[in-house]
Amino acid sequence: MEAYDKEMNEGKQMYEFANKIFPIHRCLTGDGVRKTLEYINMEIHSMGGYSLNIREIPSGSRIFDWMTPKEWTIRDAYIEDKNGKHIIDYKDNNLNVLGYSIAVDKWVGLDELLDHIHSQCDQPTVIPYVTSYYSEQWGFCMSDIKKQSLKDERYHVFIDSELFDGSMTYADLVLKGESDQEVVFSTYICHPSMANDNVSSLALACQLMKQIIQMKSRRLTYRFIFVPETIGAIAYLYENSRYLYLKEHFYAGYTFSCVGDDKEYSIIHSQNTSSLSDRVLLNVLNDKADDSTPMLEYSFLERGSDERQYNSPGIGMSFVGYCRSKYWTFPEYHTSLDDMSFISTKGLQGSFDVFNDVIKILENNRVYRTIIPCEPQLGKRGLYPNQSQKGSARQASVTSITDFIAYADGTKDLVALSDAINKPAAVLIKVAERLLKEGIIEEVNI
Ligand code: ZN
Repeated sequence: MEAYDKEMNEGKQMYEFANKIFPIHRCLTGDGVRKTLEYINMEIHSMGGYSLNIREIPSGSRIFDWMTPKEWTIRDAYIEDKNGKHIIDYKDNNLNVLGYSIAVDKWVGLDELLDHIHSQCDQPTVIPYVTSYYSEQWGFCMSDIKKQSLKDERYHVFIDSELFDGSMTYADLVLKGESDQEVVFSTYICHPSMANDNVSSLALACQLMKQIIQMKSRRLTYRFIFVPETIGAIAYLYENSRYLYLKEHFYAGYTFSCVGDDKEYSIIHSQNTSSLSDRVLLNVLNDKADDSTPMLEYSFLERGSDERQYNSPGIGMSFVGYCRSKYWTFPEYHTSLDDMSFISTKGLQGSFDVFNDVIKILENNRVYRTIIPCEPQLGKRGLYPNQSQKGSARQASVTSITDFIAYADGTKDLVALSDAINKPAAVLIKVAERLLKEGIIEEVNI
């Protein structure tokens, strides 16, 4: 049990954090987003006083080809029958109300009510997550079973909401390193109470911020972006032409979505599959995946989250999408089944371990050259076993060393070298350190 606790330490912290922010009703704009950012701030504030840079963009601002939306606030919503019984109530589950629904307060017949109810016929027990950001309408979401059970009578529909000229909130945090080359992590803050999509990603970003804050030294600069999906990423890139700075300093970038289940690891490639972002994550996932937890590779044609904006023409940064079970592919996706029982400490820990390795590799992704002609004598340096026995563990670690030396020709970075010799880059960091110390290889600046 003790070993388990130790192993899952980050996963447990992440689950706890996800559980805290799960009940908050988030949407594109409004106090749900602000409150979520406050919780993130509390986590990093205790790590030496760091806090997010929080920005508000007024409703109706032009951002590239879009306008920022009105702010939405909701206080109450229910459907009541003639006896005063609430058929559904927003307070029981915030998925029960259509996201961005306009206000309504009237008695309607069954036919009119059904026109405003969203359900999922192929999953009759779930409440679907539905929004209407760009067309003003009122609506409720409920299970199809409940919808089918509604009697032909009159109902009181009540939604106390407001769409008004306010602002859209987003935040970022930049953790400076020795270089101003940036590794960027981006996720969204606009989903209501669903666990994998997307409090899991907020928990991952938060844990990684804490991890990076604690690093003794950093070669690279790390930027974390928290935005409402799509419109927020567009606003972030647009504001003060920030995309020009980001492009100039881009080193690697990842978007997080659905990172808390423990079924598989998924990579959604950027358009440029040979980019550093692609190569590093693929290398790590090849290492982490096994028969019980496979790695699924998706092309950029199957993109769906903010990797769309960051890769788009005119922006052109190779952001890679990361999920455990990919959005769209699991039945719990965008339904009330995506609750805290769908994600786990183990799933979150798995995602943390992946990006802990990604960061280590990015920090150490150097190019090396072997400087001794012919094979160096490893035995005299304590790098080769005195006895040779095939198949032993010692033998396997020796091949990491001999293969590293054989392939370090001054042209491949650590990830390319790792791919060539089929040994995880995360493991080769230590090998490189030892070989440098022994004077067998040198670093090449290319
Ligand atoms: Zn979603």
